[in-house]
Amino acid sequence: MTMIPYGRQSIDDADIEAVTSVLRGDWLTQGPAIDRFEEAVAEYVGARHAVAFSSGTSALHGAAAAAGLGPGDVVHTTPLTFMASANCARYVGARPALIDIDEATLNLDVRAVDNTVDALVPVHYAGLPVDLTALPHRPRVVIEDAAHALGAWTPDGPVGNCAHSEMTCFSFHPVKPITTAEGGMVTTNNDELADRLRKFRSHGIRRHPEKGGWYYDVENVGYHYRMTDVQAALGLSQLGRLDRFIEDRNRLADRYREVLADLPLRLPPAAPDGVRHGYHLFVIRVADRAHVFEALRARGVFVQVHYVPVHHHSVSIDVLLPTSGVRVTDRVYEEIISLPLYPGLTEEGQDTVVRVLDEVLS
Ligand SMILES: *Cc1c(COP(=O)(O)O)cnc(C)c1O
Repeated sequence: MTMIPYGRQSIDDADIEAVTSVLRGDWLTQGPAIDRFEEAVAEYVGARHAVAFSSGTSALHGAAAAAGLGPGDVVHTTPLTFMASANCARYVGARPALIDIDEATLNLDVRAVDNTVDALVPVHYAGLPVDLTALPHRPRVVIEDAAHALGAWTPDGPVGNCAHSEMTCFSFHPVKPITTAEGGMVTTNNDELADRLRKFRSHGIRRHPEKGGWYYDVENVGYHYRMTDVQAALGLSQLGRLDRFIEDRNRLADRYREVLADLPLRLPPAAPDGVRHGYHLFVIRVADRAHVFEALRARGVFVQVHYVPVHHHSVSIDVLLPTSGVRVTDRVYEEIISLPLYPGLTEEGQDTVVRVLDEVLS
């Protein structure tokens, strides 16, 4: 029985060549590949700066710290996300809070962002951009968690251009739109934030060549959150194929929509006009999720659930819930399953998923 995962990387000979050429060169870390990868991502998304990190999680930590968030601050995000979206508040001593999702998009309900919301981490769930132009109130700090959405577009341009945010964070984990094995990036148009991000990822160090070539000052507590040149070379090579990856994901998603149309399930929200969906995930909704999940896995279709909501976890005893609750999230969570979707998924592989799903549902 072949196993079809819900997501996986696409690595070609050019990626392998890019990595091996770094391994044969002088710098394994802190060399020229990082600068090139950062410049290429900044250019791709149309942001002034891009700062590479060791993971999407450390990128979010860096963004929360650079924004000056800390004790006393409340940071709102969606319940339907990976814990890192909420943890970036905890890392800096701030408190996470939740806003329920909108059933029409599965993103946090932007209409609920009132003038009590000071800091917001919107997540472009499954690769469908949150419509930040619809916010009734612009929070003081907006940090986009775009771990799913490199390559997605809004009517205001690529996700990551920070048209309506201070910073945007990306992840390059193998299942994400492009990979560096592990890695992340923060984009911003703000010079001061970019400077803080660079210091934060490297021990709080600022160099002072005027005091000698060796001299540096540790200005504040920083971390070691750097990406290596090996990873950056892989990322740069992958970035060259990003548009093809997103086109493949969209083609496969359109095909799912056609062939699944008559099955007893709900299809995911589609992109409105002027938006390019990233399709990191293809999330269907079914009535008997536990049965469907186990039956698909038993037949080699390695589906996943994205996500166990933030407030369901033990760590979330500190999380602030809206007075109206998060009922939409709790209801939707009971039904969601992510079907296999990735650039290397063949139409035959997809047909297998559909045939097995049909069997399981009937
Ligand atoms: C993957 C992911 C992250 C964390 O990225 P890592 O690179 O795994 O640290 C954060 N937020 C969301 C929504 C993610 O899917």
